[in-house]
Amino acid sequence: MAKELADLSRLCVHTITTKPWPIEKAAKEFSAAGIAGITVWRDALSGRDIAATGRMLRDLNLEVVSLCRGGFFPSLDKKSRQSAIDDNLKAIDEAAALGAPMVVLVCGAVPGQSLIKSREQIQEGIVACIGHAAAAGVKLTIEPLHPMYADDRSAVNTLKQANDMAEAINSPSVGIALDVYHLWWDPDLASEIKRSGRNGNISAFHICDWKTPTTDLLNDRGLMGEGCINIKEIRGWVEEDGFTGFNEVEIFSNSYWQQDQHLFLEKIKEGYLQNS
Ligand code: ZN
Repeated sequence: MAKELADLSRLCVHTITTKPWPIEKAAKEFSAAGIAGITVWRDALSGRDIAATGRMLRDLNLEVVSLCRGGFFPSLDKKSRQSAIDDNLKAIDEAAALGAPMVVLVCGAVPGQSLIKSREQIQEGIVACIGHAAAAGVKLTIEPLHPMYADDRSAVNTLKQANDMAEAINSPSVGIALDVYHLWWDPDLASEIKRSGRNGNISAFHICDWKTPTTDLLNDRGLMGEGCINIKEIRGWVEEDGFTGFNEVEIFSNSYWQQDQHLFLEKIKEGYLQNS
């Protein structure tokens, strides 16, 4: 079982969690709230000087935890697969400019193409980016997604598949992002977390909750404590295997995005301290 979380020093919030706030506003509010880390979604950087934005975040004592997101490697045609690789190389450059140590990968899938084929293309895509990632000092983290997204978002749906891929690639520039929303149901989760830990592959830990009923497959994630995920237990497994990084709150929610974001941020802090 995980130790209780005593403070906010390992709390990170994704910019998409408070989507109505532009990054400048989010950064000020996170910092004022005592939150220690920020994961930046690429859309939040649109039209900005990325290096200057990174400096602005660090000046507010925020640690830049990750850049979200790269990936979407599979495609039926070679030209699209190459443009996906090009976009990932660009994401690596953006992460380096921002000062983010990793790019989180939503790996991709193509309706009508076998998941096995898509996984092969994902692996090829990641391998094609490794040299650039290593030179930039940026890690590519494979995030397995819940199987409900296996049609068009990710053919990597279990931690076992992510472990298989990370081990096959076997590079210090590749890791795994564990998101409780995607993995909580998996009967092999504890043993696969052990396996990731043994190989030094746990690079990121994302938290939120699974609401009952879930009314939208993408944008109805819950606050920690609002659903059925035993986050403390999963965090305990992750920490047992040596992970000391941030707990990143990643909530896509049409409902929370419509509410007062200050109150929402307070609820995030409370949910983190009490239910994570
Ligand atoms: Zn995630």
